[in-house]
Amino acid sequence: MSWLRKKTAIAALAVALVCWSWAIAAAALRVPGSEASGAIVARPHPLPPALAGWHDDGEGGDYFSEVVPLDVGYLVWSRFPVTVYIEPLAPNLPRSRDWNEGVGEVVAEWSAYFPLTLVGDPEGADITIWSRRPPVRLSPTGELLRARSAQTRYQIGDRPDSGRRLLAHHCEIFLSPTQTGDYLKAAARHELGHALGIWGHSDRPSDVMYFSQVSRPPGISPRDLNTLQQIYRQPTCVGWPIPDTPTTRQLRPWEIPCQGHPTP
Ligand SMILES: [Zn+2]
Repeated sequence: MSWLRKKTAIAALAVALVCWSWAIAAAALRVPGSEASGAIVARPHPLPPALAGWHDDGEGGDYFSEVVPLDVGYLVWSRFPVTVYIEPLAPNLPRSRDWNEGVGEVVAEWSAYFPLTLVGDPEGADITIWSRRPPVRLSPTGELLRARSAQTRYQIGDRPDSGRRLLAHHCEIFLSPTQTGDYLKAAARHELGHALGIWGHSDRPSDVMYFSQVSRPPGISPRDLNTLQQIYRQPTCVGWPIPDTPTTRQLRPWEIPCQGHPTP
């Protein structure tokens, strides 16, 4: 079974190359009057070492204002290294070696700035990268929407830790098996940026998190790293213990009030 004992809301942010769609299923419900009896108070976590050591000599700025916090705060990781599982493309499929190596190279690129480690089992991985097309989407009226080539989803849940429950999250990235070369790596780089916590887009094509596909995909930019660093300095409820009260025992993890962070 998954480490997320109570899998909950799913939201998706996708790049299919123009994208930005929130869909918090089941919504993050606020329960009136519960704050006094069991809210999580948002606090920042220590920055991961590699990110703490990042310094932008050029002072290139950031696009932090475009990053949207959730009701639980910013989706940052607080247990390092963050574990990543890559589902290998079957060896009999065309270009499977290029696909597998390309995605692995992108994880290594981000690893220069953020502690990531590859694991051989999807069970328990913090971030799972599937070599599959993103699930089909339906419009509100039930029509099939255009398929995306890449997508990242998160789930909010809880995780046991030393006799307590921590508010936790898990990310899934879907990368189409038919993508190749620079476009595959650009999509993987962008989606991994979301999974590390950048739930927003840049307006500059020189950033990995630009909202659209470009003909010459950029590498991780100082603005991408400045933005990620800013996100990791923010207070959040993710990664902190859930108070054990009669009220919180009745709530699903994403329903537990979070106090003291910027509201969406
Ligand atoms: Zn995106």
